[in-house]
Amino acid sequence: MSYDPENIFAKILRDEIPATKVYEDGQTLVFMDIMPRADGHCLVIPKTPCRNLLDAGADQLASVMLTTQRMARAVMAAFDAGGVTIQQFNEGPGGQEVFHLHFHVLPRHEGVALRPPGQMAEAEVIAAHAEKIRAALEDIPR
Ligand code: AMP
Repeated sequence: MSYDPENIFAKILRDEIPATKVYEDGQTLVFMDIMPRADGHCLVIPKTPCRNLLDAGADQLASVMLTTQRMARAVMAAFDAGGVTIQQFNEGPGGQEVFHLHFHVLPRHEGVALRPPGQMAEAEVIAAHAEKIRAALEDIPR
């Protein structure tokens, strides 16, 4: 399977469609999931093209994992969470819907289930959650 440069995350990377961005560095971008399954649900992507874990290069994997770790720490601090779930899906049968590599970062609280998929959140709520994560990131070392 080849990379489709018209996928929605590629359009976010090219600023062709809006996203609520929370962090970026030279190799990676983090933005809020528009259908958050937990408060603070965000997505980590490489800035360079690859479909998923199966075709990613070593540099893409290394940079995305480092950013994912940083975001895991940040969302736990921002939401006073007791844990964090990382999800990543590969190809349609593996549950992937957007074909640009991404890691879900989901802060978790004891006894609180993830919300069902496919439920849009209010833009103002997502913006407020993004701001909490940005503030927490200031105390997370690179
Ligand atoms: P999956 O490929 O199964 O990991 O799912 C793709 C994820 O991307 C889902 O959690 C969607 O809610 C999320 N998503 C889809 N479109 C957008 C978008 N424009 N901005 C932010 N998140 C999105």
